[in-house]
Amino acid sequence: MKKWGFLLFLSVGLGIAFVFIIPSFQKHAEIQEYHPNDTWEDEESSEDTQQKEITEDQIKQGDLLLVNSEHPADERGIKSDIINLSMDKELTQGYVLLDYDIYLSEDVARRFSEMVAAAQKEGVSHFLVSSGFRDFEEQRELYEERGAAYALPAGHSEHNLGLALDVGSTQTSMYEAAEAEWIKENAWKHGFILRYPQDKVDITGIEYEPWHLRYVGLPHSAIMKEKNFVLEEYLEYLREKKRVSVEVEGEKYTVAYYPISENLTIHIPKNREYEISGNNVDGVIMTIHE
Ligand SMILES: [Zn+2]
Repeated sequence: MKKWGFLLFLSVGLGIAFVFIIPSFQKHAEIQEYHPNDTWEDEESSEDTQQKEITEDQIKQGDLLLVNSEHPADERGIKSDIINLSMDKELTQGYVLLDYDIYLSEDVARRFSEMVAAAQKEGVSHFLVSSGFRDFEEQRELYEERGAAYALPAGHSEHNLGLALDVGSTQTSMYEAAEAEWIKENAWKHGFILRYPQDKVDITGIEYEPWHLRYVGLPHSAIMKEKNFVLEEYLEYLREKKRVSVEVEGEKYTVAYYPISENLTIHIPKNREYEISGNNVDGVIMTIHE
């Protein structure tokens, strides 16, 4: 009898460990780093690669642009697919819009709507979107009206690019909402990051903002989650490593950084999807879907 009791205790205990403890050790991304001196372009024969011209303009365009007090948003970086969310019933299902005047990149809105649908399946369903894309003029007015504690000066906000949105809960403040908790744990799966976390105020220079979501895309959001990096740290990491390979939920990617001082030709493997984004500072990041 005693033995049965013990076995029961053991199996229940193991069950609890499996359900509650193991997932917390689960990796968000399997990251392989290389020696910075490795030249990977030489590894591929020229027959398998195509040449791609990179222009200086590209430093200022893409989903990985760093915008902060030191690095202003550049008009070249404004997403080309900005839409009025209230006009798009399909993309705004499952959450509330604060007013009819909220704009966002259509691509980012689509990812956000996928994220909201995923949260809903887990019982988190009271999302509200209060702000999206703001043009430079709107940002200037906001800054003048509400001050530095609330808004960044014109051209220094991610909202000026169409890559960021402010998310709330219809139930309570984001400092205590289930929506905020869910975002913290899961937004990375949909390419989003919490841009101003509580423990990185010294790096971002911005107080904790549990509502401000920034789109960077996969696999970047997964690497940042895995390493607990904010965008400033992630871009510095890529600058240092030059290249990393990463596996996220079964998908493999290579991420490579190229400093740009003048126009540059890079070699890209043929027949693979890739994306190029500037960092808004000194180079571009190429992401290849392997
Ligand atoms: Zn914001």
